[in-house]
Amino acid sequence: MQTELAGFIRDRPEGREAEAILRKCVHCGFCTATCPTYQLLGDDLDSPRGRIYLMKRVLEGAPVSGRTRLHLDRCLTCRACETTCPSGVRYGRLVDIGRAVVEARTRRGPWDRAKRAALSFVLPRTWLFRAALGLGRLAKPLLPGSLKRKILPSKPSGTWPAPRHARRMLALGGCVQPALAPSINAAAARVLDRLGISLVEAPAAGCCGAVRFHLNRQEAGRDDMRALIDAWWPLAESGSVEAIVMTASGCGVTVKEFGELLREDPQYRGKAERISSLTRDLCEVLEAETLPQLGGLGRVAFQSPCTLQHGQQVRGKVEALLARAGFELAGVDDAHLCCGSAGTYSLLQPELSAELRARKLRALQEGNPARIATANIGCLAHLQAATATPVVHWIELLDEALQRRMPA
Ligand code: SF4
Ligand code: SF4
Repeated sequence: MQTELAGFIRDRPEGREAEAILRKCVHCGFCTATCPTYQLLGDDLDSPRGRIYLMKRVLEGAPVSGRTRLHLDRCLTCRACETTCPSGVRYGRLVDIGRAVVEARTRRGPWDRAKRAALSFVLPRTWLFRAALGLGRLAKPLLPGSLKRKILPSKPSGTWPAPRHARRMLALGGCVQPALAPSINAAAARVLDRLGISLVEAPAAGCCGAVRFHLNRQEAGRDDMRALIDAWWPLAESGSVEAIVMTASGCGVTVKEFGELLREDPQYRGKAERISSLTRDLCEVLEAETLPQLGGLGRVAFQSPCTLQHGQQVRGKVEALLARAGFELAGVDDAHLCCGSAGTYSLLQPELSAELRARKLRALQEGNPARIATANIGCLAHLQAATATPVVHWIELLDEALQRRMPA
């Protein structure tokens, strides 16, 4: 697409990047077929093609309105459009750049600003989120149904094996996951321990930066990324860990892109690239190891998070691991579509999010699974809030099966 960027951004690194992305788009519209918001709203401005056109206009200097921001706000950043695009348009990067410009040139209403400020303040701070969650659990009987369902019951995480192997990997604790479901990383540690790998966490490692970055506080998000790199660097630099393992695909996609997101920072560029190159989703780690084949483990449906299948372009690996272990996998229609969780999207766009969740749950439950498995804490909590079918992280299924069939 021919573009002529305005002077305010033309010569900046993000302007050059946006221009290169825009030039790749041929406006063919193939991406509209897999865009969840276009499917729901039927408006071209709520499709990738329409949003690309809006961002092109903004970057060319056209006036920006609240309506422009609304169409960008409604985007889930699911990146299904990137998977579909035959021209390799990197929509995710473009929307980051476009959103930053639109955010700076418009003013949100007080309620919207307050909600975003509260989410940006609480979610990345595990201690604060844990305290809020604890209060929520205590007050659960008094809360309205919609809020009550979002609060997951606490679940024992079980033991975390002491490091005893020469092979070591580093896990991200993260911000929300250790409060909502500490059982996930503990399950990963137990499974890896059986395979001769000790999983360790760095005590000061917190949020990966995705929360604030995607709330359009992009510099604050980059500060979180730098803090995480600082917490990991002694272990990464010494070579004492062979990989950084991500159990939440939403964090995984961000950490894998640290090198790109911090490339304009001369102090952190090199470290960020090193951290990204060490990072693997847990399924990528386990596919290279030999897991026992157990058989007869029951029927599950796997919800592949967008951050895994579109963001990281990792597809079919979790399903293959579960099938190899002995789970029967129920088919899931429209598996490429987002469940509506999308970070804070479920809180900021509740109607669209709830409709996408209803569609996703219908597809997941069509094959009568006993449980639904996922690979991201946000999707897990979002789906569980609207179904009685247990929703778990897939590593919890493997861990439980191994403990039952092959007690240590
Ligand atoms: S993003 Fe890709 S699929 Fe969508 S209109 Fe542009 S070139 Fe076509
Ligand atoms: S990221 Fe998802 S919601 Fe946003 S335009 Fe692309 S397909 Fe549509």
